[in-house]
Amino acid sequence: MMSNTTWNLDPSLESTALVQIKPQYELFIDGKWQAPLSKTYFDSINPADETHLAKIAWANQADVDLAVRAARTAYTNVWSQLSGAERGKYLFRIARLMQEKARELAVLETLDGGKPIREARDVDVPLACNHFFYYAGWADKLLEAFPGQNPAALGVAGQITPWNFPLLMLAWKIAPALACGNTVVLKPAETTSLTALKFAEICQEAGLPPGVVNIVTGYGDTGAALVAHPDLDKIAFTGSTAVGKQIQKACIGTTKKLTLELGGKSANIILEDAPIDQAVEGVINAIFFNQGHVCCAGSRLFVQESIATQVLDKLKFRLQSIYVGNPLDKNTDIGAINSKKQLETIERYIQLGLEEGAEIYQPTCELPSAGYYCKPTLFTDVAQSARIVQEEIFGPVLTIQTFRTIEEVVQKANNTPYGLAAGIWTDKGARIFGVSQQLQAGVVWANTYNKFDPASPFGGYKESGFGREGGLHGLRAYLKFPN
Ligand code: NAD
Repeated sequence: MMSNTTWNLDPSLESTALVQIKPQYELFIDGKWQAPLSKTYFDSINPADETHLAKIAWANQADVDLAVRAARTAYTNVWSQLSGAERGKYLFRIARLMQEKARELAVLETLDGGKPIREARDVDVPLACNHFFYYAGWADKLLEAFPGQNPAALGVAGQITPWNFPLLMLAWKIAPALACGNTVVLKPAETTSLTALKFAEICQEAGLPPGVVNIVTGYGDTGAALVAHPDLDKIAFTGSTAVGKQIQKACIGTTKKLTLELGGKSANIILEDAPIDQAVEGVINAIFFNQGHVCCAGSRLFVQESIATQVLDKLKFRLQSIYVGNPLDKNTDIGAINSKKQLETIERYIQLGLEEGAEIYQPTCELPSAGYYCKPTLFTDVAQSARIVQEEIFGPVLTIQTFRTIEEVVQKANNTPYGLAAGIWTDKGARIFGVSQQLQAGVVWANTYNKFDPASPFGGYKESGFGREGGLHGLRAYLKFPN
């Protein structure tokens, strides 16, 4: 039985019967599964109950070297020789196979990462498939997409992804790279490698030529070895700002093209004329969606003073009906935190918020006894300079501040090192345009939040990184333009 303080529901568990997890995964290099030269493996566990899922190969420099060599050979001998239409056929085939296996991919994502099955099933997997369909369509139209510019592939791309949207981030990187004629070596995050390994099986099933996609698993040292490899033409990284800065330094003085999609501390702004119930639901979606493990999460809420009490009361009331628990249960709103390490980080920030003098609110729901869980948390009475307001927590923690004027909220919203996303809630179109033009954010949502589409570019300002993924911009990142 799942319970919150509002009502009890019987469990509605998604079946895991169709998912086959191998006891041990090797590296996917040159179209084959290869035991790591490092002879080392690490464990992948289910954060929902701490059970062991699989052993996964931990690639070292020599393994990375093999993968890059395979990608270079495939680029030179096969992939760069194919027409765009031929490349597109492979991408369409991959997209259709992903669709066929959508349920399996969703369950795997939930088991490995802890996100609610509802999100994996309705958001992650469909969006990942759509990315492949979208870029499959562009593969033979690059000349039309960039008329008169004679676009050409870069060569071999090294790609590194985080754990919050494992399959979706893979799709954001691999689909445009392949459509443009590049080959890739991708390193998934160490806590969520399984859907990338399943994707490797899909590449085999699609008959993708060996070496076009290579998957090397491992920790940060594997990622660093990939970044340092001299025979790469492009590095695409999504992850924390701290690691992004290290990667930027490592690429200085090389000819590698670089895109960085980094952290965020996004502002969600409710003006006094906003439809309040809709805005409250939007706030819940903006920060508690995927346990707050969203780079663009609306983790700082700004409410106009005249409606602040009303909004706070409604938020607290809504939080009482939120289900935190087994991510495989279709009733679950907030699943498991991705790892013990991340849970400890979030708990440290909650403690810090209390030490900084903020007022805390958490609903009275019960958490499962095993696994990594965190209650949704609101902090009010926070100073603009507080660390919980300035730093990315990457968990279900929302700070709430009030404001009187548009000038004040714009100034506060922009006053962080980040600039990834923002939200604005108001009844007036003119205000949407007026405020959004002043916000330093790569994406601004109006009267909604966390909406994605393969045709829309996504990316940040300031310490949230540079470069865009998605849309035509996402193609540009994998092309050079001789004229
Ligand atoms: P992370 O930076 O710790 O790790 C990201 C990836 O980099 C992992 O695969 C990791 O193994 C690898 N890595 C770690 N150290 C490395 C090094 N020195 N060299 C090369 N690779 C290295 O980030 P995370 O904790 O996995 O992910 C959370 C972060 O990702 C958050 O800051 C979040 O905001 C950000 N993120 C940003 C976007 C975006 O589009 N801007 C999207 C998703 C996540």
